[in-house]
Amino acid sequence: MPTTAREIHLAARPTGEPTPSNFRLVETELADPGPGELLVRNLVMSVDPYMRGRMNDAPSYAPPWQVGQPARGGAVGEVLASGADAVAVGALVLHDGGWRDHALVPSDQVQVLAPAEGVSPSLYLGALGMPGLTAYSGLFRVGEFRAGDTVFVSGAAGAVGGLVGQFARLRGAKRVIGSAGSADKVRFVTEDLGFDAAFNYHDGPVADQLSAAAPDGIDLYFDNVGGEHLEAAIGAMNLRGRVAMCGSISGYNAVERPAGPRNLNLVVGRRLTLRGFIVYDNSDMAPEFARTVGEWVRTGQVHVRETVVDGLDNAVSAFIGLLRGDNTGKMIIKLA
Ligand code: NDP
Repeated sequence: MPTTAREIHLAARPTGEPTPSNFRLVETELADPGPGELLVRNLVMSVDPYMRGRMNDAPSYAPPWQVGQPARGGAVGEVLASGADAVAVGALVLHDGGWRDHALVPSDQVQVLAPAEGVSPSLYLGALGMPGLTAYSGLFRVGEFRAGDTVFVSGAAGAVGGLVGQFARLRGAKRVIGSAGSADKVRFVTEDLGFDAAFNYHDGPVADQLSAAAPDGIDLYFDNVGGEHLEAAIGAMNLRGRVAMCGSISGYNAVERPAGPRNLNLVVGRRLTLRGFIVYDNSDMAPEFARTVGEWVRTGQVHVRETVVDGLDNAVSAFIGLLRGDNTGKMIIKLA
Protein backbone atom coordinates (compact mmCIF):
# COMPACT_ATOMS: atom_id res chain seq x y z
CA MET A 1 0.00 0.00 0.00
CA PRO A 2 1.42 3.46 -0.82
CA THR A 3 2.19 5.65 2.19
CA THR A 4 2.79 8.89 0.32
CA ALA A 5 1.00 10.74 -2.47
CA ARG A 6 2.24 13.30 -4.98
CA GLU A 7 -0.21 16.14 -5.42
CA ILE A 8 -0.32 19.51 -7.14
CA HIS A 9 -1.08 22.52 -4.98
CA LEU A 10 -2.05 26.05 -5.92
CA ALA A 11 1.08 28.06 -5.02
CA ALA A 12 -0.16 31.53 -6.00
CA ARG A 13 -3.10 33.07 -7.81
CA PRO A 14 -2.35 34.18 -11.39
CA THR A 15 -2.89 37.54 -13.02
CA GLY A 16 -3.74 36.86 -16.64
CA GLU A 17 -2.41 33.64 -18.11
CA PRO A 18 -1.35 31.05 -15.50
CA THR A 19 2.32 30.03 -15.36
CA PRO A 20 4.01 26.97 -13.84
CA SER A 21 4.99 29.12 -10.82
CA ASN A 22 1.30 29.26 -9.84
CA PHE A 23 1.51 25.54 -8.97
CA ARG A 24 3.71 23.35 -6.77
CA LEU A 25 4.19 19.57 -6.75
CA VAL A 26 4.13 18.34 -3.15
CA GLU A 27 4.71 14.92 -1.60
CA THR A 28 2.41 14.20 1.35
CA GLU A 29 1.78 11.38 3.81
CA LEU A 30 -1.12 9.13 2.94
CA ALA A 31 -3.22 7.87 5.86
CA ASP A 32 -5.12 4.57 5.78
CA PRO A 33 -8.76 5.06 4.77
CA GLY A 34 -11.01 5.71 7.78
CA PRO A 35 -14.64 4.54 8.03
CA GLY A 36 -16.50 5.55 4.88
CA GLU A 37 -13.29 6.47 3.05
CA LEU A 38 -11.55 5.00 0.02
CA LEU A 39 -7.90 5.00 -0.96
CA VAL A 40 -7.84 5.43 -4.73
CA ARG A 41 -4.98 5.09 -7.19
CA ASN A 42 -5.78 7.56 -9.96
CA LEU A 43 -5.45 6.24 -13.50
CA VAL A 44 -6.46 9.40 -15.40
CA MET A 45 -7.34 12.96 -14.43
CA SER A 46 -8.97 15.87 -16.19
CA VAL A 47 -7.85 19.41 -16.84
CA ASP A 48 -10.74 21.67 -17.84
CA PRO A 49 -11.14 25.35 -18.76
CA TYR A 50 -13.42 26.02 -15.74
CA MET A 51 -10.42 25.34 -13.48
CA ARG A 52 -8.99 28.70 -14.57
CA GLY A 53 -11.88 30.28 -12.63
CA ARG A 54 -11.03 28.19 -9.57
CA MET A 55 -7.59 29.81 -9.49
CA ASN A 56 -9.24 33.19 -8.78
CA ASP A 57 -10.39 34.21 -5.33
CA ALA A 58 -13.92 34.93 -6.46
CA PRO A 59 -17.20 33.23 -5.59
CA SER A 60 -18.45 31.04 -8.41
CA TYR A 61 -20.38 27.83 -9.04
CA ALA A 62 -17.13 25.88 -8.39
CA PRO A 63 -15.40 26.97 -5.17
CA PRO A 64 -11.98 28.63 -5.55
CA TRP A 65 -8.90 26.51 -4.91
CA GLN A 66 -7.02 27.72 -1.84
CA VAL A 67 -3.38 28.80 -1.96
CA GLY A 68 -1.22 26.14 -0.33
CA GLN A 69 -3.93 23.50 -0.76
CA PRO A 70 -4.26 20.80 -3.42
CA ALA A 71 -6.08 21.61 -6.65
CA ARG A 72 -9.19 19.49 -7.25
CA GLY A 73 -10.94 18.10 -10.30
CA GLY A 74 -12.29 15.02 -12.00
CA ALA A 75 -10.34 11.76 -11.95
CA VAL A 76 -10.95 8.07 -12.46
CA GLY A 77 -9.09 5.59 -10.31
CA GLU A 78 -9.01 2.13 -8.85
CA VAL A 79 -9.89 1.52 -5.18
CA LEU A 80 -6.83 0.13 -3.38
CA ALA A 81 -8.32 0.03 0.12
CA SER A 82 -11.88 0.55 1.28
CA GLY A 83 -13.40 1.65 4.58
CA ALA A 84 -16.90 1.40 3.11
CA ASP A 85 -18.98 -1.76 2.62
CA ALA A 86 -20.65 -0.29 -0.47
CA VAL A 87 -17.44 0.06 -2.52
CA ALA A 88 -15.16 -2.93 -2.97
CA VAL A 89 -11.40 -3.00 -3.43
CA GLY A 90 -10.70 -3.07 -7.16
CA ALA A 91 -13.74 -0.94 -8.08
CA LEU A 92 -13.28 1.76 -10.71
CA VAL A 93 -14.53 5.13 -9.43
CA LEU A 94 -15.10 8.63 -10.81
CA HIS A 95 -14.40 11.29 -8.17
CA ASP A 96 -13.22 14.85 -7.53
CA GLY A 97 -9.74 14.08 -6.15
CA GLY A 98 -7.71 14.70 -9.27
CA TRP A 99 -4.37 16.56 -9.53
CA ARG A 100 -2.68 13.79 -7.48
CA ASP A 101 -1.59 10.21 -7.99
CA HIS A 102 -3.39 8.79 -4.95
CA ALA A 103 -6.43 10.22 -3.18
CA LEU A 104 -8.40 9.57 -0.02
CA VAL A 105 -12.04 10.20 -0.93
CA PRO A 106 -15.38 9.83 0.90
CA SER A 107 -17.19 6.81 -0.53
CA ASP A 108 -20.48 8.73 -0.80
CA GLN A 109 -18.85 11.22 -3.18
CA VAL A 110 -17.74 8.74 -5.84
CA GLN A 111 -19.54 7.19 -8.78
CA VAL A 112 -18.73 3.51 -9.21
CA LEU A 113 -18.20 2.82 -12.90
CA ALA A 114 -18.98 -0.34 -14.85
CA PRO A 115 -17.56 0.38 -18.30
CA ALA A 116 -18.78 -1.68 -21.21
CA GLU A 117 -16.19 -3.70 -23.12
CA GLY A 118 -13.79 -1.40 -24.96
CA VAL A 119 -14.80 1.75 -23.04
CA SER A 120 -11.67 3.33 -21.56
CA PRO A 121 -11.86 5.00 -18.11
CA SER A 122 -10.84 8.36 -19.61
CA LEU A 123 -14.15 8.56 -21.49
CA TYR A 124 -15.84 9.27 -18.16
CA LEU A 125 -13.87 12.54 -18.05
CA GLY A 126 -14.99 13.43 -21.58
CA ALA A 127 -17.70 12.14 -23.87
CA LEU A 128 -19.38 10.01 -21.17
CA GLY A 129 -18.76 12.50 -18.36
CA MET A 130 -19.11 16.17 -17.50
CA PRO A 131 -18.19 17.58 -20.95
CA GLY A 132 -20.53 15.09 -22.63
CA LEU A 133 -23.47 16.04 -20.41
CA THR A 134 -22.63 19.71 -20.99
CA ALA A 135 -22.88 19.19 -24.75
CA TYR A 136 -26.02 17.05 -24.52
CA SER A 137 -28.00 19.18 -22.09
CA GLY A 138 -26.76 22.46 -23.54
CA LEU A 139 -27.83 21.52 -27.05
CA PHE A 140 -31.08 19.68 -26.41
CA ARG A 141 -32.47 21.43 -23.32
CA VAL A 142 -30.87 24.86 -23.09
CA GLY A 143 -30.56 25.46 -26.82
CA GLU A 144 -33.91 23.76 -27.55
CA PHE A 145 -32.44 22.10 -30.64
CA ARG A 146 -34.94 21.15 -33.34
CA ALA A 147 -34.40 18.93 -36.38
CA GLY A 148 -33.80 21.20 -39.36
CA ASP A 149 -31.83 23.79 -37.33
CA THR A 150 -28.65 25.28 -38.69
CA VAL A 151 -26.25 25.06 -35.74
CA PHE A 152 -23.02 26.95 -35.16
CA VAL A 153 -20.61 25.83 -32.42
CA SER A 154 -17.36 27.50 -31.40
CA GLY A 155 -14.52 25.56 -29.80
CA ALA A 156 -15.58 22.90 -32.29
CA ALA A 157 -12.43 20.79 -32.03
CA GLY A 158 -12.60 20.70 -28.23
CA ALA A 159 -14.18 18.27 -25.79
CA VAL A 160 -17.62 19.89 -25.59
CA GLY A 161 -17.80 21.53 -29.03
CA GLY A 162 -16.88 18.42 -31.00
CA LEU A 163 -19.70 16.52 -29.32
CA VAL A 164 -22.26 19.30 -29.80
CA GLY A 165 -21.83 19.25 -33.57
CA GLN A 166 -21.98 15.47 -33.77
CA PHE A 167 -25.09 15.28 -31.56
CA ALA A 168 -26.81 17.92 -33.71
CA ARG A 169 -25.96 16.02 -36.88
CA LEU A 170 -27.28 12.74 -35.43
CA ARG A 171 -30.58 14.39 -34.49
CA GLY A 172 -31.22 15.91 -37.90
CA ALA A 173 -29.62 19.34 -38.07
CA LYS A 174 -29.89 20.95 -41.48
CA ARG A 175 -26.33 22.24 -41.34
CA VAL A 176 -23.59 22.14 -38.66
CA ILE A 177 -20.83 24.74 -38.69
CA GLY A 178 -17.82 24.92 -36.40
CA SER A 179 -14.96 27.28 -35.66
CA ALA A 180 -11.55 26.32 -34.31
CA GLY A 181 -8.06 27.73 -34.00
CA SER A 182 -5.98 25.96 -36.67
CA ALA A 183 -6.18 24.45 -40.15
CA ASP A 184 -5.58 20.97 -38.70
CA LYS A 185 -8.49 21.41 -36.30
CA VAL A 186 -10.74 22.62 -39.12
CA ARG A 187 -9.85 19.50 -41.09
CA PHE A 188 -10.52 17.31 -38.04
CA VAL A 189 -13.93 18.91 -37.48
CA THR A 190 -15.10 18.47 -41.07
CA GLU A 191 -13.40 15.19 -42.02
CA ASP A 192 -13.48 13.20 -38.76
CA LEU A 193 -16.47 14.73 -36.95
CA GLY A 194 -18.63 15.25 -40.05
CA PHE A 195 -19.45 18.95 -39.65
CA ASP A 196 -20.76 20.47 -42.89
CA ALA A 197 -18.40 23.44 -42.69
CA ALA A 198 -15.75 24.89 -40.40
CA PHE A 199 -13.34 27.81 -40.36
CA ASN A 200 -10.19 28.92 -38.56
CA TYR A 201 -11.10 32.02 -36.56
CA HIS A 202 -7.51 33.30 -36.95
CA ASP A 203 -8.02 33.56 -40.72
CA GLY A 204 -10.23 36.67 -40.67
CA PRO A 205 -13.19 38.29 -38.94
CA VAL A 206 -15.51 35.67 -37.45
CA ALA A 207 -18.59 37.50 -38.78
CA ASP A 208 -17.33 37.32 -42.38
CA GLN A 209 -16.32 33.66 -42.15
CA LEU A 210 -19.57 32.73 -40.44
CA SER A 211 -21.76 34.42 -43.03
CA ALA A 212 -19.84 32.64 -45.80
CA ALA A 213 -20.34 29.28 -44.05
CA ALA A 214 -23.99 29.95 -43.19
CA PRO A 215 -25.46 31.97 -46.06
CA ASP A 216 -29.01 31.29 -44.80
CA GLY A 217 -28.21 32.30 -41.21
CA ILE A 218 -28.13 30.17 -38.06
CA ASP A 219 -30.89 29.03 -35.73
CA LEU A 220 -28.80 27.92 -32.76
CA TYR A 221 -25.39 29.02 -31.53
CA PHE A 222 -23.59 26.94 -28.88
CA ASP A 223 -21.15 29.44 -27.38
CA ASN A 224 -17.91 28.13 -25.86
CA VAL A 225 -15.88 31.22 -26.60
CA GLY A 226 -17.75 34.54 -26.11
CA GLY A 227 -16.39 37.87 -27.37
CA GLU A 228 -16.12 38.27 -31.13
CA HIS A 229 -17.70 34.85 -31.71
CA LEU A 230 -20.83 35.76 -29.75
CA GLU A 231 -21.20 39.06 -31.56
CA ALA A 232 -20.81 37.35 -34.95
CA ALA A 233 -23.35 34.68 -34.01
CA ILE A 234 -25.94 37.25 -32.90
CA GLY A 235 -25.40 39.01 -36.22
CA ALA A 236 -26.04 35.76 -38.13
CA MET A 237 -29.11 34.66 -36.15
CA ASN A 238 -32.41 33.91 -37.80
CA LEU A 239 -35.72 34.99 -36.29
CA ARG A 240 -36.33 33.31 -32.88
CA GLY A 241 -32.79 31.96 -32.83
CA ARG A 242 -31.32 30.59 -29.62
CA VAL A 243 -27.91 30.85 -27.98
CA ALA A 244 -26.81 28.26 -25.40
CA MET A 245 -24.21 30.20 -23.44
CA CYS A 246 -21.83 27.53 -22.19
CA GLY A 247 -18.51 29.34 -21.76
CA SER A 248 -16.44 32.32 -22.85
CA ILE A 249 -12.89 31.00 -22.95
CA SER A 250 -11.64 33.96 -25.00
CA GLY A 251 -11.86 36.00 -21.79
CA TYR A 252 -10.70 33.54 -19.10
CA ASN A 253 -7.14 34.93 -18.93
CA ALA A 254 -8.20 38.52 -19.57
CA VAL A 255 -7.19 41.08 -16.96
CA GLU A 256 -9.86 43.58 -18.06
CA ARG A 257 -13.46 42.58 -18.75
CA PRO A 258 -14.05 42.55 -22.52
CA ALA A 259 -16.70 44.80 -24.07
CA GLY A 260 -19.98 42.97 -24.61
CA PRO A 261 -21.35 42.22 -28.07
CA ARG A 262 -22.06 45.58 -29.71
CA ASN A 263 -25.15 44.30 -31.50
CA LEU A 264 -27.27 43.16 -28.53
CA ASN A 265 -30.08 45.38 -29.85
CA LEU A 266 -30.70 42.67 -32.48
CA VAL A 267 -31.96 40.36 -29.71
CA VAL A 268 -35.19 42.35 -29.56
CA GLY A 269 -36.17 42.59 -33.21
CA ARG A 270 -35.16 39.02 -33.96
CA ARG A 271 -36.81 37.67 -30.77
CA LEU A 272 -33.63 35.85 -29.77
CA THR A 273 -33.10 33.83 -26.60
CA LEU A 274 -29.66 33.87 -24.94
CA ARG A 275 -29.54 31.44 -22.02
CA GLY A 276 -26.61 30.64 -19.76
CA PHE A 277 -26.33 27.30 -17.98
CA ILE A 278 -24.09 25.19 -15.76
CA VAL A 279 -23.97 21.48 -16.48
CA TYR A 280 -25.00 20.56 -12.92
CA ASP A 281 -28.36 22.28 -13.49
CA ASN A 282 -29.11 19.39 -15.80
CA SER A 283 -28.03 16.42 -13.64
CA ASP A 284 -31.53 14.99 -14.01
CA MET A 285 -30.66 14.30 -17.66
CA ALA A 286 -27.71 12.08 -16.68
CA PRO A 287 -29.50 8.70 -17.10
CA GLU A 288 -30.91 9.64 -20.54
CA PHE A 289 -27.51 11.06 -21.53
CA ALA A 290 -25.64 7.94 -20.39
CA ARG A 291 -28.00 5.68 -22.34
CA THR A 292 -28.08 7.71 -25.54
CA VAL A 293 -24.48 8.85 -25.78
CA GLY A 294 -23.18 5.52 -24.39
CA GLU A 295 -24.87 3.84 -27.36
CA TRP A 296 -23.61 6.42 -29.88
CA VAL A 297 -20.04 6.00 -28.63
CA ARG A 298 -20.23 2.20 -28.42
CA THR A 299 -21.56 1.91 -31.96
CA GLY A 300 -19.08 4.42 -33.37
CA GLN A 301 -21.74 6.97 -34.34
CA VAL A 302 -19.90 9.54 -32.24
CA HIS A 303 -16.20 9.91 -32.90
CA VAL A 304 -14.17 10.52 -29.74
CA ARG A 305 -10.75 12.11 -29.81
CA GLU A 306 -8.41 12.70 -26.86
CA THR A 307 -5.12 14.49 -26.42
CA VAL A 308 -3.33 12.39 -23.80
CA VAL A 309 -0.45 13.82 -21.77
CA ASP A 310 1.60 11.42 -19.70
CA GLY A 311 2.28 11.93 -16.00
CA LEU A 312 1.42 14.25 -13.12
CA ASP A 313 4.67 16.18 -13.75
CA ASN A 314 3.18 17.36 -17.06
CA ALA A 315 -0.33 18.17 -15.78
CA VAL A 316 0.37 21.87 -15.22
CA SER A 317 1.80 22.45 -18.69
CA ALA A 318 -1.12 20.49 -20.15
CA PHE A 319 -3.58 22.73 -18.31
CA ILE A 320 -1.83 25.91 -19.49
CA GLY A 321 -1.71 24.40 -23.00
CA LEU A 322 -5.44 23.60 -22.90
CA LEU A 323 -6.20 27.30 -22.43
CA ARG A 324 -4.01 28.07 -25.46
CA GLY A 325 -5.53 25.40 -27.72
CA ASP A 326 -2.88 22.65 -27.54
CA ASN A 327 -5.60 19.98 -27.41
CA THR A 328 -7.77 18.37 -30.04
CA GLY A 329 -10.70 16.66 -28.33
CA LYS A 330 -10.58 16.12 -24.58
CA MET A 331 -7.32 16.89 -22.77
CA ILE A 332 -6.52 13.93 -20.50
CA ILE A 333 -3.64 13.34 -18.10
CA LYS A 334 -2.62 9.70 -17.82
CA LEU A 335 -1.37 8.92 -14.32
CA ALA A 336 -0.96 5.14 -14.31
P1 NDP B 1 -11.86 22.45 -24.95
O1 NDP B 1 -11.52 21.03 -25.09
O2 NDP B 1 -12.72 23.11 -26.01
O3 NDP B 1 -10.50 23.24 -24.79
C1 NDP B 1 -10.44 24.61 -24.77
C2 NDP B 1 -10.29 25.17 -26.20
O4 NDP B 1 -10.63 26.53 -26.20
C3 NDP B 1 -8.86 25.14 -26.71
O5 NDP B 1 -8.50 23.91 -27.25
C4 NDP B 1 -8.86 26.27 -27.75
O6 NDP B 1 -9.09 25.72 -29.04
C5 NDP B 1 -10.08 27.11 -27.36
N1 NDP B 1 -9.67 28.50 -27.11
C6 NDP B 1 -8.74 28.96 -26.25
N2 NDP B 1 -8.65 30.31 -26.32
C7 NDP B 1 -9.54 30.70 -27.27
C8 NDP B 1 -9.92 31.96 -27.83
N3 NDP B 1 -9.36 33.11 -27.42
N4 NDP B 1 -10.87 31.99 -28.79
C9 NDP B 1 -11.45 30.85 -29.23
N5 NDP B 1 -11.14 29.61 -28.74
C10 NDP B 1 -10.20 29.56 -27.78
O7 NDP B 1 -12.56 22.71 -23.55
P2 NDP B 1 -13.98 22.16 -23.10
O8 NDP B 1 -14.64 21.52 -24.23
O9 NDP B 1 -13.81 21.42 -21.85
O10 NDP B 1 -14.77 23.51 -22.75
C11 NDP B 1 -15.31 24.31 -23.80
C12 NDP B 1 -16.09 25.47 -23.18
O11 NDP B 1 -17.18 24.98 -22.44
C13 NDP B 1 -15.26 26.33 -22.23
O12 NDP B 1 -15.66 27.68 -22.39
C14 NDP B 1 -15.70 25.83 -20.87
O13 NDP B 1 -15.51 26.77 -19.86
C15 NDP B 1 -17.17 25.54 -21.14
N6 NDP B 1 -17.79 24.59 -20.23
C16 NDP B 1 -18.93 25.00 -19.60
C17 NDP B 1 -19.63 24.15 -18.78
C18 NDP B 1 -20.90 24.61 -18.17
O14 NDP B 1 -21.45 23.91 -17.31
N7 NDP B 1 -21.45 25.74 -18.59
C19 NDP B 1 -19.12 22.79 -18.50
C20 NDP B 1 -17.94 22.43 -19.25
C21 NDP B 1 -17.29 23.32 -20.09
P3 NDP B 1 -8.72 26.52 -30.39
O15 NDP B 1 -7.40 25.96 -30.86
O16 NDP B 1 -9.85 26.19 -31.29
O17 NDP B 1 -8.60 27.98 -30.07
